[in-house]
Amino acid sequence: MIGSRNVCRGVTRLLRNRGANLDSTPKRNLNLLEYQSKEILAGAGVAVQKFVVVSDKAQVAKKVDGFKVEEYVVKAQVHAGGRGKGHFDTGFKSGVHILKDKSKIADIAKAMLGNKLITKQTPPGGVPVNHVMIAESVDIFEEKYLCFILDRSQNGPVCIASPAGGMDIEEVAKNTPEKVKTVPIDVMKGISSSTAKEIAQFLEFDASTVDQAASEIVKLYNVFTKYDVTQLEINPLAKTNRGVIAVDAKVLIDDNASFRQKQTFDEASTAEDDPREVEAAKFNLNYIQMEGNIGCLVNGAGLAMATMDIIKLYGGQPANFLDVGGGVSETAVTEAFRIISSDPSVKAILVNVFGGIVNCAIVAKGVVAAVKNVGLTVPLIVRLEGTNVDNAKQILKDSGLKITSAENLDDAAKKAVACLS
Ligand code: GDP
Ligand code: MG
Repeated sequence: MIGSRNVCRGVTRLLRNRGANLDSTPKRNLNLLEYQSKEILAGAGVAVQKFVVVSDKAQVAKKVDGFKVEEYVVKAQVHAGGRGKGHFDTGFKSGVHILKDKSKIADIAKAMLGNKLITKQTPPGGVPVNHVMIAESVDIFEEKYLCFILDRSQNGPVCIASPAGGMDIEEVAKNTPEKVKTVPIDVMKGISSSTAKEIAQFLEFDASTVDQAASEIVKLYNVFTKYDVTQLEINPLAKTNRGVIAVDAKVLIDDNASFRQKQTFDEASTAEDDPREVEAAKFNLNYIQMEGNIGCLVNGAGLAMATMDIIKLYGGQPANFLDVGGGVSETAVTEAFRIISSDPSVKAILVNVFGGIVNCAIVAKGVVAAVKNVGLTVPLIVRLEGTNVDNAKQILKDSGLKITSAENLDDAAKKAVACLS
């Protein structure tokens, strides 16, 4: 079965492709921060630098107190790459700082925490930094790229490798395709040590490091399968003064495996997500934050996109989408309503539900209950169509509440946009 959060993340991507400027990176899976990824890697015996993580400015000095190494690397933890070349909304440069003087760590961490880091991969306004990693710096001699990913065209995992690491792999693939190799892995057999060694050789690890590199590759693949990973990217996998080390790591875990990877999901999933998204997930609803001022309660991905298109056609901008999905209950609709109206940028609410599996009367009852419970401070436009729609319209009418009914999608979008002007 397709996980509802997967559908939501698919929609997020599609909405973005339709010109929506979403304030979070598109996610299809549980997206781990570098430090969370490295905790898993370290647990599996993969070579990573030792590190501590700080999230509270007041705690930085205390946290690094017992952490003594020759050289430190301080790294902003966000769901985006390109941190090294990024900058903060405050003007502070780079999300990756290397230094020897321990007394300067606190200032750097404080300049990162609570501010937004802007990189090539973030939205233009950047993303807030809530965690900073302080790690032992290594001397890097060579940087390689290594990734395990599920590849639809191969019906299974593939390893993507390039000796040109530390840079944007898409650029490498475009400009120098011979420097990127894709190796399919038989999911039933796993990765053999000879395949791992071939990959290590392609990565141009020399005789002194090729065997360790091959062994790291095997361990990384084992993490990939053990943790239901959909993408495990190490960029760079580096040849250093301390051997082969995964210097940067990004791990995405399949939403459908949340029952099997419960601990990882419990620990990681709420750390960086939008709190409204987390709240919605508790009720099996999908919440997507956007930048406009019309809050939208819809059912289904297709309708979300159609709603977005038509709102834009009439000159409006959605503030968010809350997809109540198929088997929706009255309580879920009430919660959906509460979540949408908790966003201060919402200046009108548009309910657009097509009752196929959904019974419109349940939605109508949910809307009425929500308005009574939560109160309504902005105009509410409701368009219902399909199963039991006449009954639903009667429920809305009998409620005596100030609800604007719309005849169809066009009418609904027009009315939502009009009430804002
Ligand atoms: P990204 O910019 O978000 O991909 O973050 P990375 O963790 O990949 O760091 C960016 C770059 O900083 C790497 O490609 C390295 O060149 C450099 N870097 C990161 N960590 C270290 C370190 O411990 N020592 C040294 N010398 N360079 C590092
Ligand atoms: Mg990197």
